[in-house]
Amino acid sequence: MPLHVLVLGGTTEARRLAESLVAADGIRVTSSLAGRVARPRLPPGEVRVGGFGGTEGLAEWLRAHHVDAVIDATHPFAGTISFNAASAAAAVHVPLLALRRPGWVPVEGDRWHIADSLAGAAGLLPELGSRAFLTTGRMGLAAFAGLDLWFLMRSVDAPGTPCPARMEVLLDRGPFTLEGERELIRLHRVDVLVTKDSGGDATAPKLAAARAAGIPVVVVRRPPVPPGVPVAGTLEEALALLRHLTGPWF
Ligand code: NAP
Repeated sequence: MPLHVLVLGGTTEARRLAESLVAADGIRVTSSLAGRVARPRLPPGEVRVGGFGGTEGLAEWLRAHHVDAVIDATHPFAGTISFNAASAAAAVHVPLLALRRPGWVPVEGDRWHIADSLAGAAGLLPELGSRAFLTTGRMGLAAFAGLDLWFLMRSVDAPGTPCPARMEVLLDRGPFTLEGERELIRLHRVDVLVTKDSGGDATAPKLAAARAAGIPVVVVRRPPVPPGVPVAGTLEEALALLRHLTGPWF
Protein backbone atom coordinates (compact mmCIF):
# COMPACT_ATOMS: atom_id res chain seq x y z
CA MET A 1 0.00 0.00 0.00
CA PRO A 2 1.46 3.41 -0.88
CA LEU A 3 1.75 6.02 1.83
CA HIS A 4 -1.24 8.38 1.47
CA VAL A 5 -0.21 11.99 2.08
CA LEU A 6 -2.75 14.80 2.26
CA VAL A 7 -1.30 18.17 1.28
CA LEU A 8 -3.36 21.14 2.45
CA GLY A 9 -2.57 23.58 -0.32
CA GLY A 10 -3.42 26.82 -2.03
CA THR A 11 0.20 27.99 -2.32
CA THR A 12 3.09 27.67 -4.76
CA GLU A 13 4.98 25.65 -2.13
CA ALA A 14 2.12 23.18 -1.86
CA ARG A 15 2.08 22.67 -5.63
CA ARG A 16 5.86 22.09 -5.69
CA LEU A 17 5.56 19.71 -2.77
CA ALA A 18 2.87 17.72 -4.59
CA GLU A 19 5.16 17.55 -7.65
CA SER A 20 8.01 16.12 -5.53
CA LEU A 21 5.76 13.62 -3.76
CA VAL A 22 4.15 12.44 -7.01
CA ALA A 23 7.63 11.86 -8.43
CA ALA A 24 8.63 9.72 -5.42
CA ASP A 25 7.90 5.99 -5.40
CA GLY A 26 5.42 4.59 -2.94
CA ILE A 27 3.45 7.75 -2.28
CA ARG A 28 -0.14 8.60 -3.09
CA VAL A 29 -0.75 12.34 -2.92
CA THR A 30 -4.02 14.17 -2.48
CA SER A 31 -3.89 17.97 -2.58
CA SER A 32 -6.72 19.88 -0.98
CA LEU A 33 -7.75 23.35 -2.15
CA ALA A 34 -10.24 25.62 -0.39
CA GLY A 35 -11.93 26.56 -3.65
CA ARG A 36 -11.55 30.34 -3.20
CA VAL A 37 -9.80 31.01 -6.53
CA ALA A 38 -11.92 30.71 -9.67
CA ARG A 39 -9.24 29.10 -11.86
CA PRO A 40 -6.52 27.67 -9.58
CA ARG A 41 -3.26 26.23 -10.87
CA LEU A 42 -3.80 22.56 -10.13
CA PRO A 43 -1.03 20.39 -8.69
CA PRO A 44 -0.29 16.89 -10.05
CA GLY A 45 -1.74 13.89 -8.23
CA GLU A 46 -5.26 13.69 -6.84
CA VAL A 47 -7.02 16.97 -6.04
CA ARG A 48 -10.06 17.66 -3.91
CA VAL A 49 -11.69 21.09 -3.61
CA GLY A 50 -13.73 22.73 -0.84
CA GLY A 51 -13.88 22.80 2.95
CA PHE A 52 -14.00 19.61 5.01
CA GLY A 53 -16.62 20.86 7.43
CA GLY A 54 -14.45 21.96 10.36
CA THR A 55 -12.18 19.86 12.55
CA GLU A 56 -14.59 16.92 12.75
CA GLY A 57 -15.11 16.87 9.00
CA LEU A 58 -11.37 16.85 8.41
CA ALA A 59 -10.80 14.11 11.01
CA GLU A 60 -13.48 12.02 9.33
CA TRP A 61 -11.91 12.62 5.92
CA LEU A 62 -8.50 11.49 7.20
CA ARG A 63 -10.05 8.32 8.62
CA ALA A 64 -12.22 7.51 5.60
CA HIS A 65 -9.39 8.02 3.10
CA HIS A 66 -6.76 6.19 5.15
CA VAL A 67 -4.42 9.17 5.25
CA ASP A 68 -0.98 8.32 6.68
CA ALA A 69 0.38 11.87 7.01
CA VAL A 70 -0.78 15.47 6.57
CA ILE A 71 1.34 18.36 5.36
CA ASP A 72 -0.14 21.76 6.04
CA ALA A 73 1.31 23.79 3.18
CA THR A 74 -1.38 26.46 3.30
CA HIS A 75 -0.67 30.18 3.21
CA PRO A 76 0.91 31.51 6.44
CA PHE A 77 -2.26 33.56 7.00
CA ALA A 78 -4.71 30.67 6.60
CA GLY A 79 -4.96 30.27 10.38
CA THR A 80 -8.26 28.40 10.69
CA ILE A 81 -7.40 25.43 8.50
CA SER A 82 -4.00 25.11 10.22
CA PHE A 83 -5.62 24.88 13.65
CA ASN A 84 -8.26 22.49 12.32
CA ALA A 85 -5.51 20.32 10.85
CA ALA A 86 -3.64 20.23 14.18
CA SER A 87 -6.77 19.17 16.10
CA ALA A 88 -7.96 16.66 13.49
CA ALA A 89 -4.57 15.01 13.02
CA ALA A 90 -4.16 14.68 16.79
CA ALA A 91 -7.67 13.19 17.11
CA VAL A 92 -7.01 10.43 14.57
CA HIS A 93 -3.29 10.00 15.45
CA VAL A 94 -1.99 10.96 12.00
CA PRO A 95 1.40 12.72 11.85
CA LEU A 96 1.24 16.37 10.78
CA LEU A 97 3.87 18.86 9.75
CA ALA A 98 3.65 22.40 8.44
CA LEU A 99 5.54 23.83 5.48
CA ARG A 100 5.89 27.59 5.93
CA ARG A 101 8.05 29.78 3.76
CA PRO A 102 10.13 32.07 6.00
CA GLY A 103 8.77 35.55 6.65
CA TRP A 104 10.33 38.69 5.18
CA VAL A 105 13.02 40.58 7.08
CA PRO A 106 13.47 44.37 6.80
CA VAL A 107 16.70 45.69 5.35
CA GLU A 108 18.36 49.09 5.51
CA GLY A 109 16.18 51.78 4.01
CA ASP A 110 12.90 50.02 4.79
CA ARG A 111 10.26 52.03 6.68
CA TRP A 112 8.17 49.20 8.10
CA HIS A 113 5.30 49.53 10.57
CA ILE A 114 4.22 46.21 12.07
CA ALA A 115 0.52 45.49 12.70
CA ASP A 116 -0.97 42.45 14.46
CA SER A 117 -4.04 42.28 12.26
CA LEU A 118 -5.73 43.85 9.24
CA ALA A 119 -7.72 46.05 11.64
CA GLY A 120 -4.44 47.14 13.23
CA ALA A 121 -3.04 47.95 9.77
CA ALA A 122 -6.13 50.00 8.95
CA GLY A 123 -5.67 51.92 12.21
CA LEU A 124 -2.12 52.91 11.23
CA LEU A 125 -2.88 54.03 7.68
CA PRO A 126 -4.32 57.57 8.12
CA GLU A 127 -1.10 58.61 9.87
CA LEU A 128 1.08 57.24 7.09
CA GLY A 129 -0.45 58.25 3.78
CA SER A 130 -3.46 59.03 1.65
CA ARG A 131 -2.95 56.77 -1.40
CA ALA A 132 -2.47 53.16 -0.27
CA PHE A 133 -1.43 50.13 -2.32
CA LEU A 134 -3.37 47.33 -0.63
CA THR A 135 -2.01 43.83 -1.26
CA THR A 136 -3.56 41.92 1.63
CA GLY A 137 -6.11 40.06 -0.50
CA ARG A 138 -9.79 40.55 -1.21
CA MET A 139 -11.09 38.61 1.82
CA GLY A 140 -10.18 41.12 4.55
CA LEU A 141 -11.24 44.30 2.75
CA ALA A 142 -13.92 45.12 5.30
CA ALA A 143 -11.17 46.20 7.72
CA PHE A 144 -10.36 49.13 5.41
CA ALA A 145 -13.93 49.97 4.37
CA GLY A 146 -14.37 52.86 6.82
CA LEU A 147 -11.21 54.73 5.80
CA ASP A 148 -11.28 57.92 3.78
CA LEU A 149 -8.15 57.08 1.76
CA TRP A 150 -7.73 56.21 -1.90
CA PHE A 151 -6.78 52.55 -2.45
CA LEU A 152 -5.16 50.60 -5.23
CA MET A 153 -6.33 47.07 -4.37
CA ARG A 154 -4.65 44.13 -6.07
CA SER A 155 -6.06 40.60 -5.91
CA VAL A 156 -6.39 37.45 -8.02
CA ASP A 157 -10.20 37.54 -8.13
CA ALA A 158 -12.57 40.51 -7.91
CA PRO A 159 -13.46 41.66 -4.38
CA GLY A 160 -16.95 41.88 -2.93
CA THR A 161 -18.32 44.26 -0.32
CA PRO A 162 -17.87 45.89 2.12
CA CYS A 163 -14.86 47.70 0.68
CA PRO A 164 -13.42 51.24 0.69
CA ALA A 165 -15.46 53.83 -1.22
CA ARG A 166 -12.47 55.17 -3.14
CA MET A 167 -10.77 52.11 -4.57
CA GLU A 168 -9.31 51.02 -7.89
CA VAL A 169 -9.10 47.26 -8.39
CA LEU A 170 -6.21 45.61 -10.17
CA LEU A 171 -6.76 41.93 -10.94
CA ASP A 172 -3.41 40.17 -11.20
CA ARG A 173 -1.54 37.18 -9.90
CA GLY A 174 2.20 37.06 -9.02
CA PRO A 175 5.04 36.67 -9.58
CA PHE A 176 5.57 40.41 -9.93
CA THR A 177 8.68 42.28 -11.08
CA LEU A 178 10.52 45.16 -9.43
CA GLU A 179 10.07 47.32 -12.54
CA GLY A 180 6.35 46.59 -12.60
CA GLU A 181 5.89 47.40 -8.91
CA ARG A 182 7.89 50.63 -9.20
CA GLU A 183 5.77 51.66 -12.16
CA LEU A 184 2.53 51.01 -10.24
CA ILE A 185 3.71 53.12 -7.30
CA ARG A 186 4.78 55.94 -9.62
CA LEU A 187 1.71 55.84 -11.88
CA HIS A 188 -0.81 55.83 -9.02
CA ARG A 189 1.20 58.19 -6.76
CA VAL A 190 1.07 55.56 -4.01
CA ASP A 191 2.42 56.88 -0.71
CA VAL A 192 1.99 53.81 1.52
CA LEU A 193 2.02 50.02 0.92
CA VAL A 194 0.06 47.47 2.96
CA THR A 195 1.08 43.83 2.93
CA LYS A 196 0.86 40.64 4.94
CA ASP A 197 4.18 39.07 5.89
CA SER A 198 3.59 36.36 3.31
CA GLY A 199 7.27 35.71 2.62
CA GLY A 200 8.61 34.16 -0.59
CA ASP A 201 10.02 35.66 -3.77
CA ALA A 202 6.93 35.95 -5.94
CA THR A 203 5.51 39.03 -4.25
CA ALA A 204 8.64 40.43 -2.57
CA PRO A 205 9.50 43.03 -5.27
CA LYS A 206 6.82 45.38 -3.87
CA LEU A 207 8.97 45.75 -0.74
CA ALA A 208 12.03 46.75 -2.77
CA ALA A 209 9.87 49.10 -4.84
CA ALA A 210 8.53 50.77 -1.67
CA ARG A 211 12.09 51.10 -0.34
CA ALA A 212 13.24 52.68 -3.61
CA ALA A 213 10.31 55.11 -3.51
CA GLY A 214 11.00 55.93 0.17
CA ILE A 215 7.40 55.16 1.19
CA PRO A 216 6.30 53.42 4.42
CA VAL A 217 5.06 49.82 4.47
CA VAL A 218 2.50 48.43 6.90
CA VAL A 219 3.38 44.76 7.45
CA VAL A 220 0.74 42.51 9.03
CA ARG A 221 2.33 39.91 11.31
CA ARG A 222 1.60 36.20 10.75
CA PRO A 223 -0.63 34.16 13.04
CA PRO A 224 1.36 31.53 14.96
CA VAL A 225 1.65 27.91 13.80
CA PRO A 226 -0.38 25.73 16.20
CA PRO A 227 1.74 24.60 19.17
CA GLY A 228 3.47 21.25 18.81
CA VAL A 229 3.34 21.14 15.00
CA PRO A 230 6.83 20.68 13.51
CA VAL A 231 7.62 23.33 10.89
CA ALA A 232 9.72 23.02 7.73
CA GLY A 233 10.92 26.18 6.00
CA THR A 234 11.76 24.56 2.66
CA LEU A 235 10.56 21.74 0.46
CA GLU A 236 13.66 19.68 1.27
CA GLU A 237 13.11 20.12 5.01
CA ALA A 238 9.47 19.10 4.60
CA LEU A 239 10.44 15.88 2.79
CA ALA A 240 13.06 15.08 5.44
CA LEU A 241 10.54 15.71 8.24
CA LEU A 242 7.95 13.56 6.50
CA ARG A 243 10.46 10.73 6.21
CA HIS A 244 11.32 11.17 9.88
CA LEU A 245 7.65 11.05 10.92
CA THR A 246 6.53 8.17 8.72
CA GLY A 247 9.62 6.01 8.26
CA PRO A 248 11.69 5.55 5.09
CA TRP A 249 9.71 5.37 1.84
CA PHE A 250 12.30 6.36 -0.79
P1 NAP B 1 -8.67 29.78 6.57
O1 NAP B 1 -9.28 31.03 7.05
O2 NAP B 1 -7.59 29.17 7.36
O3 NAP B 1 -9.77 28.66 6.36
C1 NAP B 1 -11.17 28.90 6.35
C2 NAP B 1 -11.85 27.62 5.93
O4 NAP B 1 -11.60 27.33 4.56
C3 NAP B 1 -11.36 26.41 6.68
O5 NAP B 1 -11.98 26.28 7.93
C4 NAP B 1 -11.68 25.29 5.71
O6 NAP B 1 -13.08 24.99 5.72
C5 NAP B 1 -11.42 25.94 4.37
N1 NAP B 1 -10.06 25.70 3.88
C6 NAP B 1 -8.97 26.52 3.96
N2 NAP B 1 -7.93 25.98 3.33
C7 NAP B 1 -8.35 24.79 2.85
C8 NAP B 1 -7.72 23.78 2.07
N3 NAP B 1 -6.44 23.89 1.66
N4 NAP B 1 -8.46 22.69 1.75
C9 NAP B 1 -9.76 22.58 2.14
N5 NAP B 1 -10.41 23.51 2.85
C10 NAP B 1 -9.71 24.60 3.19
O7 NAP B 1 -8.13 29.97 5.08
P2 NAP B 1 -8.14 31.24 4.11
O8 NAP B 1 -7.26 32.27 4.68
O9 NAP B 1 -9.55 31.55 3.76
O10 NAP B 1 -7.40 30.62 2.85
C11 NAP B 1 -8.06 29.70 2.02
C12 NAP B 1 -7.03 29.07 1.09
O11 NAP B 1 -6.40 30.08 0.32
C13 NAP B 1 -5.95 28.29 1.82
O12 NAP B 1 -5.86 27.02 1.23
C14 NAP B 1 -4.69 29.12 1.64
O13 NAP B 1 -3.55 28.31 1.46
C15 NAP B 1 -5.01 29.95 0.40
N6 NAP B 1 -4.43 31.29 0.47
C16 NAP B 1 -4.72 32.09 1.54
C17 NAP B 1 -4.16 33.36 1.61
C18 NAP B 1 -4.39 34.26 2.79
O14 NAP B 1 -3.83 35.36 2.80
N7 NAP B 1 -5.17 33.86 3.78
C19 NAP B 1 -3.33 33.80 0.57
C20 NAP B 1 -3.07 32.96 -0.52
C21 NAP B 1 -3.63 31.71 -0.55
P3 NAP B 1 -13.68 23.79 6.60
O15 NAP B 1 -13.65 24.27 8.01
O16 NAP B 1 -15.04 23.58 6.04
O17 NAP B 1 -12.78 22.60 6.40
